[in-house]
Amino acid sequence: MHLTDIGANLTHPSFHDDLDAVVARARAAGVGTIIITGTTVLESRLAAEIADRFDLHSTAGVHPHHARDCDEHTIAELRKLALHPRCVAIGECGLDFNRNYSPHPAQEKWFVAQLELGLQLGKPLFLHSRDAHPRFAQIVRTHGVKTAVAHCFTGEAEELHAYLDLGLYIGITGWICDERRGTHLLRLVRDIPADRLLLATDSPYLTPRDMKPQPKARRNEPAFLPHILTTVARALGQPPEEVALQTTRNAARLFGIDESRASLAAQRTAAA
Ligand SMILES: [Zn+2]
Repeated sequence: MHLTDIGANLTHPSFHDDLDAVVARARAAGVGTIIITGTTVLESRLAAEIADRFDLHSTAGVHPHHARDCDEHTIAELRKLALHPRCVAIGECGLDFNRNYSPHPAQEKWFVAQLELGLQLGKPLFLHSRDAHPRFAQIVRTHGVKTAVAHCFTGEAEELHAYLDLGLYIGITGWICDERRGTHLLRLVRDIPADRLLLATDSPYLTPRDMKPQPKARRNEPAFLPHILTTVARALGQPPEEVALQTTRNAARLFGIDESRASLAAQRTAAA
């Protein structure tokens, strides 16, 4: 089995001491492809460095939480980082009207600037939207963005269908394993066309709540993606192997990851 974790925050300080072991555990668990999320200019640079070191991939972008820290150099820096051979997308960028760490006008300004950068460079976009529907969809539509993923979908049916109508891929995380706030996703995931579904852990966040026992300090890591896969596959009524194959193929298509290399990694994993 070859799984792709399209969003892991491996630059997070909680991974500093044991990143080698984290990546090794992911590979042993069949997670052959990992895309490390960039959330600031600095973190995006770190993400590319980690991707280099471990033969992984990365994104370059500024999360809406950090929009207030952007300045006239931000887009030029991201443009440079986007040229890195490991960088497969612009983002994570978008809108977060849940935490509101940055004022809405700043969030929108830097969201649009990153959308434009992605479009200029012909790079897919790695999008974050939380409690920002319908404004998020309006902006995506206005800018004609089609090659993108809504990376950790947690919304309701109307929001999902708005994103699907825009042509977006949908990223499902361990939120779907959360009996308090994620059970609606067990139904909604069936509405996602097979060729638009992606999986992510969003490590170290969103540890699947139904994992027993819970990991140390409740830190999520890419090796736990098979747990999320199992939940998604059960909700879809499909064999996990099929969902793994389909979602890895989708990620390779969206992010332009060499499928022959990806399947080589899968063979290596299978042989191990
Ligand atoms: Zn996000």
